[in-house]
Amino acid sequence: MTKHKTIAVYPGSFDPVTYGHLDIIRRSLKIFDEVIVAVARNSQKNSLFSIDERVELIRTVTKEEGRVTVDTFTGLLIDYVVSKQAHVIIRGLRAISDFEYEFQIAQMNSTIGHNIETLFMMTSVQYGYLSSSIVREVCSLGGNIDSFVPPEVKSAMLKKFGRT
Ligand code: ADP
Repeated sequence: MTKHKTIAVYPGSFDPVTYGHLDIIRRSLKIFDEVIVAVARNSQKNSLFSIDERVELIRTVTKEEGRVTVDTFTGLLIDYVVSKQAHVIIRGLRAISDFEYEFQIAQMNSTIGHNIETLFMMTSVQYGYLSSSIVREVCSLGGNIDSFVPPEVKSAMLKKFGRT
């Protein structure tokens, strides 16, 4: 019997991608054959980077990982996941504060998207406090972001904040 490729979708805003995201991507690759990092186009948030810039940054920092593809999606995540013939959505959990919101979305997605599972991956200890918004704030205030994002992301951020 031929084994089907296992494909997982890792959705988010990734504004910008951090070491916390990369950690989730690498750990997911140990479980799935392919991971699609999907940048949401319909986010309500005011973003620092455009969609294209975010996609480009993720591509750059995952270029060594052969089984990662980077894409964007609009509309319902479930529809996107089905269109990619994936069965699993990956989300990271950092704190209890993430839980309530994630729980609601996962329940909704399992109601409208049959056969799609949401898999929660616990943050690695060293990234428990790390979020794109904190990195944006630290960088905008002149702080050092070396331990939060890869060098390519750091330079893109310094440029955005006119710190080069
Ligand atoms: P969203 O806007 O959908 O919350 P983010 O880009 O902030 O998207 O994050 C995408 C996913 O990565 C979410 O599931 C989030 O919980 C997870 N994530 C973000 N930072 C970390 C981290 N430091 N450790 C583990 N998971 C994380």
